[in-house]
Amino acid sequence: MITFNDFCKKTFGQKVYKLNLNGGMTCPNRDGKVGTGGCVFCSAGGSGEFTPSPSMPVEEQIERAKQLVSKKYRGEKYIAYFQAFSNTYAPVSYLRKLYESVMTRNDIVCLDIATRPDCLGDDVTGLISELNCVKPVWVELGLQTSNPDSVKYIRRGYENGVYADAVKRLNAAGVHTVTHIILGLPGESTDDMVNSVRYAVECGTKGIKLQLLHVLEGTDLADDYRAGSFETLSLDMYIEILRKCISVLPEEIVVHRLTGDGPKKLLIAPLWSADKKKVLNRIKKELGRE
Ligand code: SF4
Repeated sequence: MITFNDFCKKTFGQKVYKLNLNGGMTCPNRDGKVGTGGCVFCSAGGSGEFTPSPSMPVEEQIERAKQLVSKKYRGEKYIAYFQAFSNTYAPVSYLRKLYESVMTRNDIVCLDIATRPDCLGDDVTGLISELNCVKPVWVELGLQTSNPDSVKYIRRGYENGVYADAVKRLNAAGVHTVTHIILGLPGESTDDMVNSVRYAVECGTKGIKLQLLHVLEGTDLADDYRAGSFETLSLDMYIEILRKCISVLPEEIVVHRLTGDGPKKLLIAPLWSADKKKVLNRIKKELGRE
């Protein structure tokens, strides 16, 4: 496996920082096209609690985000990361204007788009492929799990085959794909989680983000948690699962993340995950990597 920092140094010649941006889109799993309730774990912010309000112009969002990272980063190169909701869920004319507005900036070296694989029609992948020839474009896909029972439980709203097809088409366009997998979904065994990682690798993902399941206020997952229908992972269990997931990753896969941040004000469980520094230190100590 390749670490995110090593990948960035190789791709951009230096360490770069991500700027969390809001492209002002929604999600077909919320607006009724696919579903209305969203994924069972998804909060009202569409998994983008760390992004600015969509009413803020993107230029202003960039300056604000640069300000936020300025204490830890003195460099001048950034990745523009559209994180909240589904960032290809709009007409291509809207997407082109939005993406080009950030990609034409000298301080932005890469466009990073989080979306659903069912929001990647040929017109959208065509645009991404074109822009990828100008500067690197990454596409992050929320697979979360490949287990069919879990897919139903989390109300993901698309079949595994849709994901496999999207990765294939993005790979053909030379785009770096990053797959999100959630560790600790209700009812999943360690083997289920490892199988999801294996599945993403077999489909051809180039990068992976492993994230701990967070139970957030205002989600249907929180209702199930409070009803006692499942327990969240302990830090020890999480590290053991990570160890097994990493062991099946080929050398060339880029690991973008080994944990995730839940917004503290919404976090119900597991509360140990709120101490990000402690979690990262433990992961580093136990697994020798961040
Ligand atoms: S696809 Fe993403 S934004 Fe949409 S409901 Fe699921 S997690 Fe939330």
